[in-house]
Amino acid sequence: MDSSYDVIVVGAGPAGLASAKSAVEHGAKVLVIEDHAAIGTPVQCGESLALSSIEELGLEPNPSFVANDDVRIIRLYSPGKKKIELLMPENVKTPGVILERKMFEKLLAVKIANMGAHICTKTPAIGVLKENGFVVGVKVKHIDEIKDVRAKVVIAADGPSSKIAKWAGMDIYSDVKKFASCAQFQMANVKIDPKVSEIYLGKVAPGGGFWILPKQKGFANVGLGIAGDDPKTALAYLREFVEKDERLRNGSIIEFNVGPVPMGGVVKRMVDNGIMVVGDAARQVNPATGGGMKFGIRAGIIAGEVAANAVKTGDTSARFLSAYEKQWNKEFARRFKAFEIFKEMVLEMPDEKLDKLCEDIGTREVPGDIDSGTDLGSMGLRIIWPVLRNYPKIVLKLGKFLPSLR
Ligand SMILES: Cc1cc2nc3c(=O)[nH]c(=O)nc-3n(C[C@H](O)[C@H](O)[C@H](O)COP(=O)(O)OP(=O)(O)OC[C@H]3O[C@@H](n4cnc5c(N)ncnc54)[C@H](O)[C@@H]3O)c2cc1C
Repeated sequence: MDSSYDVIVVGAGPAGLASAKSAVEHGAKVLVIEDHAAIGTPVQCGESLALSSIEELGLEPNPSFVANDDVRIIRLYSPGKKKIELLMPENVKTPGVILERKMFEKLLAVKIANMGAHICTKTPAIGVLKENGFVVGVKVKHIDEIKDVRAKVVIAADGPSSKIAKWAGMDIYSDVKKFASCAQFQMANVKIDPKVSEIYLGKVAPGGGFWILPKQKGFANVGLGIAGDDPKTALAYLREFVEKDERLRNGSIIEFNVGPVPMGGVVKRMVDNGIMVVGDAARQVNPATGGGMKFGIRAGIIAGEVAANAVKTGDTSARFLSAYEKQWNKEFARRFKAFEIFKEMVLEMPDEKLDKLCEDIGTREVPGDIDSGTDLGSMGLRIIWPVLRNYPKIVLKLGKFLPSLR
């Protein structure tokens, strides 16, 4: 590790790796530091990602890191077990895949290292270096050695429990109520259909949702997110569901993980002098679905380019770096607002009303020309819109935001 770089990326999750790739592509000398001993592990994720995000990273989807690219039905159950089914015709490429995220991130890291970025695992940032109101690097613990490493721009991609931005003096505070508390079993020998993803709303996961995302025949991510202030643990809800479901009850748990997901909308400021914040650290997570990879990857791609340009021009001020924040907001801010409103309405709806809405929507076919850039939440909301139009309150609150749901 050198003592100075153009750009230091803290955290080698999807947002950090995307930032590093983009910065290196635009000519910056880049260091990526990762706290964990291995990139991609442990996985705290249902692993569902839009195909376009993989393509945007210059990766060719293939079985070494895509576990399932053939989910043809998304089935959502209301509290009273009424169901919505979104069907994808066999002759179209599905817009989303279930990843083997460990391999996805590892292969991406190898690609970025081969492009010239320097990557160091088992190297947490333990502080931020500041001079004259600018972040100018980080203090790291590299295996057993503590050292200062300087950078013209630091990109904080350190996930939902981010400390870097706080250490730099930025306000990224989120109330615990605004975090979903998640738990997930990766289960083998379960009797699920590999072509069907399932989502359950209601008492099984209060304030959130329960999911079964199939990775292969007999193998699935089974998990849930609940409101962060629920006195009962996410694990307790997960166990209850699995024990009651005869398809899952006798399956083996081959991996277990828990984690927080920021669901309260993005931070007000994503940049300050010499620093940019991306991914979960900037709360760039769809507030209705909890999906964050797509938005963090896009943030990284934009931020990496802006950081490299800042280095070239010698201007690393918040003013210059805010080009990233403006672009990200242009692409996603209205869409996130629509999702926030939709989520609030669903959470406030009495169970019988939600049952009726799901019954009214019923089974819908996904149009063959669906854009591969569409995340699954946007796709779902767009497809069910013809029915939502009959609900005046929803139209009133959501109508003007609908065009943003690309
Ligand atoms: C149970 C669960 C299921 C989910 N399912 C989905 C899903 O299906 N689809 C989806 O899109 N999203 C999903 N999410 C959300 C998704 O996992 C996150 O949005 C995504 O991982 C965010 O990427 P990131 O790069 O911002 O952060 P992370 O993936 O959290 O990566 C941050 C990295 O920074 C490292 N780090 C932290 N602090 C330091 C430090 N001081 N120094 C060095 N390194 C540091 C961490 O070790 C970590 O590797 C899920 C989340 C959970 C918890």
